[in-house]
Amino acid sequence: MKKFPTIGILGGGQLAQMLALEGYPLGFRFVFFDPTADACAGLVGELIVADYGNEIALEEFAKRCDFVTYDFENVPVSAAEFVAKRTSIFPHPKVLEIAQDRLKEKLLFKSLDLPVGQFHAVDSYSELVFASKSCNQDGFLKTRTLGYDGKGQHRITIKTDLKELWGKIDGGSFVLEQAIKFKREVSVIVVRNTQGDMRFYNLCENKHKLGILTTTLVPAVKSEYSDRAFDYAKKIADKLSYVGVLVIEMFETDLGLFINEMAPRVHNSGHWSIEGAVTSQFENHLRAGLGFEIGSTEMSQGFSAMINWIGEIPNIALSTKEKGIYWHIYGKENRQGRNVGHSTVVADNAQDLHTKVVKLAKLLTTS
Ligand code: ATP
Ligand code: MG
Repeated sequence: MKKFPTIGILGGGQLAQMLALEGYPLGFRFVFFDPTADACAGLVGELIVADYGNEIALEEFAKRCDFVTYDFENVPVSAAEFVAKRTSIFPHPKVLEIAQDRLKEKLLFKSLDLPVGQFHAVDSYSELVFASKSCNQDGFLKTRTLGYDGKGQHRITIKTDLKELWGKIDGGSFVLEQAIKFKREVSVIVVRNTQGDMRFYNLCENKHKLGILTTTLVPAVKSEYSDRAFDYAKKIADKLSYVGVLVIEMFETDLGLFINEMAPRVHNSGHWSIEGAVTSQFENHLRAGLGFEIGSTEMSQGFSAMINWIGEIPNIALSTKEKGIYWHIYGKENRQGRNVGHSTVVADNAQDLHTKVVKLAKLLTTS
């Protein structure tokens, strides 16, 4: 490996930005590829602005990189495969292909004998009627591809007029999932390097509002299922010969865990690790791809939390600075429903963590 490797990132959002910010102190160099000129990773490094189908630009990009990774999983697989013929790319484009399709993803979990809630492929009105009945008219109809932050989802209840709904969305491919009555949502962040070594971060507890992650608490203190969750994640990572950070989102119920979905990349529920862990998910993703030893995933203090700033950053964000509270502002324009930054809290006891989180949460309503 070169002394100062260059890492390419397909997609130039905040994940690419944070990967670079964590990689620069290690001497790594970065180049980002994104179709939009104002992609926020461009604020911290060189951004190639071109469509994912532009092979001349992709060729130029791939040639310069020691390895390439992704900022989001909806990068066209064809672009990832094109790059894979020219340089290393992690995770493998085949993983991307599975993660882009909710049906393929769930079939993978099933093939590994892992617990998933009832689900049905829906490509026609009659399949929708059948699937809804099978799920007792209590489910989530989700587009198979291109969904994120709860977008492309329709809640199905006894009150839903299926005919009217199908009239609005006809033409797509969907999965109807049974609604899971969960006690909490958790995620496992696993890192696997090119040699197959693996480490896990503490189980994260995640809270969502309108389908968007708002808060992560670590460790998920009330969960009894950490080991089981790690075991599920290990099976998936091994099966995929995965390299990098992989995140598995799960629902915890009275009957145990059910797997919701996976993200083949660094993840919003791992942002706390920048200050809350010995090695952040971003550094570890890069270390894994470069074949280095995975850094310790232990927490830097006993507890950590992450609060997402959605739509806007509170006006008074930078006016005070307090021990154990950190601000990350991505430099994106405000927009409803958009992640524009996050705060991390670290504390050595649960009470202190709670106090700081409440203080931050108040800014949401007072700014
Ligand atoms: P993201 O990109 O934020 O992970 P997404 O668009 O991929 O979101 P999901 O994670 O599948 O979508 O769903 C978003 C949220 O909606 C979940 O975190 C959960 O709160 C709720 N949800 C989704 N599916 C179900 C389900 N089958 N049962 C209960 N709640 C669900
Ligand atoms: Mg999700």
